[in-house]
Amino acid sequence: MAKKIIVLPGDGIGHEIMGSAIEVLKRIAEKYGHQFEFEQHDIGGSSYEKHGEPLTDNTVDACLDADAILLGAIGGPKWDNIPTHLRPEQGLLKIRKALNLFANIRPIKGFAPLLHASPLKESVINGSDIYVVRELTGGLYFGEPSERREDGNVVVDTLLYHRHEIERIVEKGFESAQLRNKHLTSVDKANVLESSRLWREVVEEKKANYPDVTVEHMLVDSAAMKLITNPTQFDVIVTENLFGDILSDEGSVLTGSIGMLPSASLSETIGLYEPVHGSAPDIAGQGIANPLGMILSAAMMLRYSLDLNEEAVAIEKAVEKSLEAGYYTSDLNIENGKQVGTKEMTEIVIGNI
Ligand code: NAD
Repeated sequence: MAKKIIVLPGDGIGHEIMGSAIEVLKRIAEKYGHQFEFEQHDIGGSSYEKHGEPLTDNTVDACLDADAILLGAIGGPKWDNIPTHLRPEQGLLKIRKALNLFANIRPIKGFAPLLHASPLKESVINGSDIYVVRELTGGLYFGEPSERREDGNVVVDTLLYHRHEIERIVEKGFESAQLRNKHLTSVDKANVLESSRLWREVVEEKKANYPDVTVEHMLVDSAAMKLITNPTQFDVIVTENLFGDILSDEGSVLTGSIGMLPSASLSETIGLYEPVHGSAPDIAGQGIANPLGMILSAAMMLRYSLDLNEEAVAIEKAVEKSLEAGYYTSDLNIENGKQVGTKEMTEIVIGNI
């Protein structure tokens, strides 16, 4: 199988972990007889430095023409004081909008060897397996106006959703639940927000089409608390953009480190795959970043965009085996293991494929 993959390393540790994902995919190509063509483009601060903007139309066109996209991470303090529309984050928001990546999928499942690395009790997180379906192209992050008024002393951000945007993500939530344990938790703030009341209405309307799925509505404040006090009660969580962003980062504590978490951002036709974490400027360039969230994102890419499930499982098993053997990166709080850097961890995973 010949496939074209656009790689967008981005900023900070993005370059280090992208190198890991590419090496792992090369090993998969070799083992299973595929041809993956990698084409690298800029995004975020590195694009700003080279092209004067955080995402060029040329990069968007290349992504539209690809079979799948891998992204490292963007951002860093270097670009904190440039005009808002040129900031690295704008590159990320623009690509999500340009490719219509409306569904952000974030599986949160702890690997057994890491359960004790979580700050939560092992007895609380044991057996937790959560699948967050987050809306990605609407809500507060995209609503206009978003501005300062009255000499900067009054601010406005707009939370805007169209019914069709809510419908398609809610359907994705139901479909995901059907493929898993058939329980959907819809998270909103319907006691306060009008947008959440429309969200709840849509969920109620749609549930008749998925009679095998049980649905529960949960307020976001309560969900934030239950996610870490009783995570095993969740199967699929569907929620809007801001709530999903916060809850999935919170959920990372179940896995021991944010460096472990992969994600997929999907449109009807294309997928972009990236770890949940950011560019980690505090450790960039030191060779110690955990590459596993990025490598597991590559596995998601094989599964969802390239229809290569066996190959995806091979990567996930190799990661698990590496952790079982006691290898860990410095972000994980492990006792009695063997601490390794980005390159060594990558080599160990490749050796286990
Ligand atoms: P971050 O996720 O980059 O880092 C948070 C903490 O986790 C840091 O201590 C970091 O060292 C650690 N960490 C993160 N990933 C790691 C990994 N793979 N291995 C080891 N340790 C890891 O979040 P932040 O510090 O809030 O943000 C830094 C920059 O990243 C900001 O500019 C922010 O805007 C950007 N950001 C980008 C994305 C993205 O590209 N999707 C997401 C979140 C934040």
